[in-house]
Formats: sequence, structure tokens, C-alpha cells
Amino acid sequence: MTASILVVEDELSIQRGLQDQLEREGYRVAVAGSVAQALVALAARPDLVVLDRRLPDGDGLQVLQDLRARGDRTAVIVLSARGLPDDRVQGLEGGADDYVGKPFHLRELLARIKAVLQRAGEAPAAGAATIAVGESVLDVGARVLRRGNAVVELARMEFELLLYLARQPGRTVPRNELLDRVWGHDRFPTTRTIDYHVLSLRKKVERDPTAPRHLVTVHRVGYRFDP
Ligand code: CA
Repeated sequence: MTASILVVEDELSIQRGLQDQLEREGYRVAVAGSVAQALVALAARPDLVVLDRRLPDGDGLQVLQDLRARGDRTAVIVLSARGLPDDRVQGLEGGADDYVGKPFHLRELLARIKAVLQRAGEAPAAGAATIAVGESVLDVGARVLRRGNAVVELARMEFELLLYLARQPGRTVPRNELLDRVWGHDRFPTTRTIDYHVLSLRKKVERDPTAPRHLVTVHRVGYRFDP
């Protein structure tokens, strides 16, 4: 599958130049010119983000922090005109996968993009590519549930919620943690939003949704996943 890349850069000449070159290399490319635009564009779940730091509405590292705060391990390469060592450390400590100082050589950036994508592909942040959920299997790459030959589609947040719970079998996860880590602070869900998504997931996952065995309610606390 073609990897998709989000280029976050406000300087149009660099933005366009990168887009052209990356498309020529066969990537699917989206662009954003500000922190706000980047946060919106992330909804399309790019495989890699090239992130400039000096943006008109803030520091690009905010985008990185937002991703990591949600437990999102999408690959990020930080670009910056500030080539100081401290700056580099800040980017890497913030969870960047790599860092390229500006002005950069296009070839170097392309090589780093390739390397980071390869690492991400070899060791998917998702861990297991599939997770057993009762009689179904959660296909993490395809973001669907499979039961025999049947494919059950999951809404985006259904998938995120199930994945978060299924990666921690047997652990009771408090609703507040689900709000923070699955929904993130840029959206405005309530605990009812979680309950609603659990109900609709149960219809897809449980043999008897009224007597759930896999998505278990822990009274007054949250939910627990039992495989
Ligand atoms: Ca800039």
C-alpha cells in the first residue's frame, strides 16, 4: 500500500516543493500550513508527518505532543530552522522519530522518510497485527473485525476504543483514561459518549450483547476487556 504523508509547513515554496517531490516518489501527500490545519488533517491518519516547528499559530511540537498524548505513535519527522542541539533534543524527547535541520537537503529528508517508514512498518506500534476478541478477530491494519469470512466494519472511534481496551486485557480502564487517551483533549466527549460506543461495539462483538463477556462494565469505574 502507498504510504501517506502529511506535510505541515507554512512556507509555500517548501510545502509545494516537498509535495511535488514526495508525490513523484509515489507517496500520497496532504499538506497543512498551521497547527490548527495539521490537527484537522491528522484525522485522515497519515503514515508519517513531516512537521515544521515555526508555524503561524504556534510551535509544530504542539502537534506532536497532541498525538503522543493520545497514545498515537504515527511517525513524525520534525523540521526546524533552529538547528541547535537543545532544539533537537526537545523534538526527540517530545516523541519525534527523527529530526532534520533546515535548510535540509531534499535527498537526506527523503532517505530519512524512507527509513522511518520502514521502521514503522517492521515494528508496528500496534504490536500484534490481530487481536482475538471472542469469536472475532480485530484486524488492526485493516481496522475491521473479522468473524470467519464476514467482515464487520467499525466506526473510527469504535475501532480506537476497542483497540485501546484490547491491548490491555484484564485491566480495568477508568472512563477518564478512555476520554483522555482514546478521544483526546481536542474533542469534547462525555462519559456517555464512551458508554454509547461500548453499547454499539457490544452489538458487533458479543454473542449476547445484553450479557457481555468481552467488553465488561466495571461498576462506577470503567470497562475491562476479556479476550
Ligand atoms: Ca515555518
